[in-house]
Amino acid sequence: MEISKIGIVGAGQMGNGIAHVCALAGYDVLMTDISQDSLDAAVALINKNLDRQVAREKITVEAKSDAMARIGTTLKLPELGQTDLVIEAATERESVKTAIFEDLLPYLQPHTILTSNTSSISITRLASRTDRPEKFMGFHFMNPVPIMKLVELIRGIATDEETFKACQTVVDRLGKTGAAAEDFPAFIVNRILMPMINEAIYTLYEGVGSVKSIDTSLKLGANHPMGPLELADFIGLDTCLAIMNVLHEGLADTKYRPCPLLTKYVEAGWLGRKTQRGFYDYRGEEPVPTR
Ligand code: NAD
Repeated sequence: MEISKIGIVGAGQMGNGIAHVCALAGYDVLMTDISQDSLDAAVALINKNLDRQVAREKITVEAKSDAMARIGTTLKLPELGQTDLVIEAATERESVKTAIFEDLLPYLQPHTILTSNTSSISITRLASRTDRPEKFMGFHFMNPVPIMKLVELIRGIATDEETFKACQTVVDRLGKTGAAAEDFPAFIVNRILMPMINEAIYTLYEGVGSVKSIDTSLKLGANHPMGPLELADFIGLDTCLAIMNVLHEGLADTKYRPCPLLTKYVEAGWLGRKTQRGFYDYRGEEPVPTR
């Protein structure tokens, strides 16, 4: 089936990036949020990020203005019923997401595919609350969306092949690479990445290494572009803790237990870059390790 119009729910960090790449790839985009300020901020940010791509000669001025012209915004969720594919990228709370899909259902066309960008909520459970579990799947972009090449395509238990292929075609047209994943806690990337970050925090907690020696070891010893603690600060320590809790509870295996030091940083409100303090202190010129 042909997808030409994409609806995006949530104009936050991920929603604006998804709108950016979809519009640049030639899709008509209709983005909604509960807040007009968020919609305005998202459009302004997309404009700025596209300008940056023009300045770096990655795209032409025409491509930028065409992309901007393809992006519409609305505060009325039912208007997304006229799209072929909905990508839900609202706040990571199950009650929020369930309510969005329930409110949207009466307005959908029969062929519309529903997807969620959730990092941790069960796709099968979200799908079961809709009238079309076979046309529902996970569409998991990485942050920052315009830069990161991967999209995890997550099949719920009922997702049909036609839906999967339609989403794979969108990913191809975005110039990204899809990786198929089954619907189990944290899917693939976070299932592997978060225990590594958690283990790095245990390594710090047990005094095996300092923040600096742990990050240097993984950068120079395993060729990682960022150290695990630096990366944790970038992702947000609250997000890291939430994903570890999903793995721990969802797989019921003690190997996923969150490190107490991670919990302590989150309790302190030291959440990484977004609060200017985490495993590094970002308040000065240079990041300074906090341990
Ligand atoms: P965010 O907080 O930046 O944005 C969420 C937006 O959703 C906000 O603008 C909010 O106003 C809006 N919203 C809340 N309730 C709504 C509703 N009922 N209807 C419409 N809009 C509503 O969050 P984010 O980081 O963009 O995350 C969005 C989703 O993407 C989450 O499911 C998250 O797990 C997932 N995700 C995040 C990342 C990341 O690194 N941030 C990476 C991959 C996936």
